[in-house]
Amino acid sequence: MGNRKSFLLYANSSHQFERLCNKSLWPLTICSCNYIVDIPSKVPTSYSLIATGIPAQWDLTDFELDVKKQYPSIVKVERMLVRGGTPIAKVRIDFSSNEDVQKILKHKRLLLDDENTSFPVQQYYPPFKILRCYNCQQYNDHVAANCPRKDTPICFRCGQNHPYNPNCSNKICCANCKEEHLAGNPSCRVKIAERNKGKSNLITSNGYKSYPTKAAFTAWTTTTNLMFTSDCQPSTTAMAPTSLENSNSSSSIEISKKLDLILNKIDYLTGEHDNLKTNFINVNQQLRSCQETINLLKIFLSEQICPLIVEVGEGIM
Ligand SMILES: [Zn+2]
Ligand SMILES: [Zn+2]
Ligand SMILES: [Zn+2]
Repeated sequence: MGNRKSFLLYANSSHQFERLCNKSLWPLTICSCNYIVDIPSKVPTSYSLIATGIPAQWDLTDFELDVKKQYPSIVKVERMLVRGGTPIAKVRIDFSSNEDVQKILKHKRLLLDDENTSFPVQQYYPPFKILRCYNCQQYNDHVAANCPRKDTPICFRCGQNHPYNPNCSNKICCANCKEEHLAGNPSCRVKIAERNKGKSNLITSNGYKSYPTKAAFTAWTTTTNLMFTSDCQPSTTAMAPTSLENSNSSSSIEISKKLDLILNKIDYLTGEHDNLKTNFINVNQQLRSCQETINLLKIFLSEQICPLIVEVGEGIM
């Protein structure tokens, strides 16, 4: 296998991507050579969406079976977690068809197979990652291979100029904020500022691009101008913005950005409202079961304990 050649293929459209991922469409041999197709383990973010209002205590195995009956192109259902690994009432659902994702997002609901139960959905945005140059420790600017300070590396431990040494015993000092932690520490204020900058960029750009009628155009461009390291990230910006956007004046773009932000907020609030509703239903159920226990206790008291007390009382007299 010494001269094995591998090719990385980039798809130009979601249609092409889906065809490339369908192993049954590939020929048996290429130029009479045997070959192997490795399908990406992660789907592009435009093939995922978030369903909300799915109680954190639900077992997703049954849920997955139920939604798959309704949407056969679902490949994976995964519970969303917050910091510390706590499950929340949201799940990420990966599809093999971008068309299905767009359809569901357009209807804003995900149906269960009984067609009566539905859950609000949201577009999926990947978490914002902060890159750090391992040579000079700078955030979100370049990778070590392109570092402009190649000859003056900065230590990730002490923040001083010396080549990489994982055992450096100088006093720990962050190269970015000069505080007492290693470069890249999550509490580094320079890193936090970078993260916030990234988040606000993400909200503005996605807020604009996620407008339902344009969703299809942005399927491959949602994150291309940001530094994500996801290995399935298409490296080409195949679909340029529509001419409509170019011809619009900047003020109308501003207005539509604002409108999209409002729409996103409304979506978010609807999701939160549904979460609250589910929580109320749960609390109600718990109250009801408490009430039942109390009733049982009452019956037990009046039918068992009271006659016993009377009997004991009579015995004493
Ligand atoms: Zn650097
Ligand atoms: Zn050092
Ligand atoms: Zn720091």
